[in-house]
Amino acid sequence: MITLPPADEMYAAIRRRDPAFEGVFFTCVKTTGIFCRPTCKAKPAKRENVEFVATAQAALLAGYRPCKLCKPMSPAGAAPDWASALIDEVRRSPATRIPDASLRERGLNPATVRRFFQDRFGMTFHAYQRAVRLGEAFAELRAGADALPAGMRAGYDSDSGFREAFARLFGAAPTKANGVLRLCADWLETPLGAMVAIADDDGLCLLEFVDRRALEKEIETLRRRRQCVVIPGANDVLRQTRDEISEYFGGSRRDFTIPLSPLGTPFQRQVWEALREIPFAETMSYAALADRIGRPGASRAVGRANGMNTIAIIIPCHRVVGASGDLVGYGGGLWRKRRLLDLEHASLEREIAEHTEIVAA
Ligand SMILES: [Zn+2]
Repeated sequence: MITLPPADEMYAAIRRRDPAFEGVFFTCVKTTGIFCRPTCKAKPAKRENVEFVATAQAALLAGYRPCKLCKPMSPAGAAPDWASALIDEVRRSPATRIPDASLRERGLNPATVRRFFQDRFGMTFHAYQRAVRLGEAFAELRAGADALPAGMRAGYDSDSGFREAFARLFGAAPTKANGVLRLCADWLETPLGAMVAIADDDGLCLLEFVDRRALEKEIETLRRRRQCVVIPGANDVLRQTRDEISEYFGGSRRDFTIPLSPLGTPFQRQVWEALREIPFAETMSYAALADRIGRPGASRAVGRANGMNTIAIIIPCHRVVGASGDLVGYGGGLWRKRRLLDLEHASLEREIAEHTEIVAA
């Protein structure tokens, strides 16, 4: 997680339009739904109407639009015409996806586009489209949040724009939710970024990093297959998830006791069960996993089932590696896979060191 300077310091910085904070944070104004650079010439909004985020992506995801005055989406110099045209197009109809094939039809090289967005905004063009799309969805549902019963609003703080936007997105349904099966959704901050957790009363159905490509689709599938609504809030399963995940990142937990209730075919469930038996800090290849479930040679199918896992960390698909021990694909990003394994190794090494000290003493 990117750590921001103290809020008071950031607010002081926007009041003096301090260029030293360019790129460090963005200011989101709740009353106008606009986000700005720290140096924006516009009169700063009141302290209580302002929230700060580390990236333009976070601002977009929270449903804010870029300020026309300070243009927070175009950092270094003017964007080339083709890029401005793309940005305009996405902004005008966020629901329309522009895949690589359509880029090529426009005579654009997808790799060039990717590099440009990566350099300028720190995300790929596809991530940019997703961010805008989600942001629009959040903004659209903003009004829905006001319909939330007060009791349902209580219990989650509003200091994070992300969290609020998330509550708004899932909070659109509760007026229709009475008497309908519900899934509760919660928002978790972890050292590797924010995660969404969704559970019914029996178990956890989903735990994913919010920037995972397939997240929207996974939530939609869950909603449809379970024929239920997803509402923000907490139940016992989610409270336990929050505790155990925080203990895991804190180094004091290796095994999870949270009941799970994932969607999946019998084969996928079998693979996921086997994944849960890979010990903390150890890795296993797809082929070995296939052997373990009595399906030697099915390493491809095992790999696919691994990729369909929607309960990150707890069903430890990050412990599956390629045949030669190399790290291969991870839905949450390879860097996260590496960090999760590093974290587990470090915890183990600490224990060995402590043990050695005891023996030596
Ligand atoms: Zn501005």
